[in-house]
Amino acid sequence: MSQLQRIAITSSQLQSGEIFLTKEQQHYLGNVLRLHEGDKFIAMDGFGSGWLAQLTAEQAEILEPLQFKTELPASVTLMVALPKGNAFDDIVRVCTEVGVSCIAPAVSARTLLNPSPQKLERWRRIAIEAAEQSERAFVPTILEPTSVVSFISGDLSSSTHHKFICDARGDYPHLLSCLPKEKIINDQQQMSLIIATGPEGGWTGKELESAVNLGFEPVSLGKRILRAVTAPIFALSVVGAFLES
Ligand code: SAM
Repeated sequence: MSQLQRIAITSSQLQSGEIFLTKEQQHYLGNVLRLHEGDKFIAMDGFGSGWLAQLTAEQAEILEPLQFKTELPASVTLMVALPKGNAFDDIVRVCTEVGVSCIAPAVSARTLLNPSPQKLERWRRIAIEAAEQSERAFVPTILEPTSVVSFISGDLSSSTHHKFICDARGDYPHLLSCLPKEKIINDQQQMSLIIATGPEGGWTGKELESAVNLGFEPVSLGKRILRAVTAPIFALSVVGAFLES
């Protein structure tokens, strides 16, 4: 099963045991991956379900449902202050591979980038491709860019179990030592975490104070100053290793 190619589909493409492929998917499967009628591949809906499928003359037929076991055992959201240039593309790609559940691009007081609407579409496309490549069952949600204050005071933030804000300059405990010892809440409910990382110029004192007032615990990522693009990847790797060990 591991050798089979994967594509992400929407649930509306599934009907009576068949997958109605889009023109783009037909081109990708036939011309890019060079699959022929009768060849098998994996279709995933990005929300935890997947199927073994077989190409037919026109479309694809579902052979059997599949169980994926590739997700982290907790929901991890990264709030990342947008870095300069195209660095956010790398953050989305790598953090999807490592297992992030949701990424919130944030515009902070010192953010230098003003993202265009096309950027969001691009990041979502990158997340789909990275989820296919890394054999994830879920495609992470990439939220619309928002201000730091809106995100940290919003619904997602207020309903999350554990929240951390990474600050490069304070005398704070390491993220690893602050992670909750109980990794599982119960069979029905997953533990949820938010990790916030700042822009090239760091957080303002006001942003840090607001986050702390809203329940974010300030943490360190070690003794070195990581770049704005490295910090979220490193933080998620720490959380991923903790959760899976
Ligand atoms: N000049 C900035 C400062 O003094 O805060 C450095 C910012 S750093 C390039 C970008 C972001 O990465 C920081 O805002 C923080 O969220 C995170 N970061 C980098 N290194 C870190 C560390 N050692 N501990 C905690 N957070 C770190």
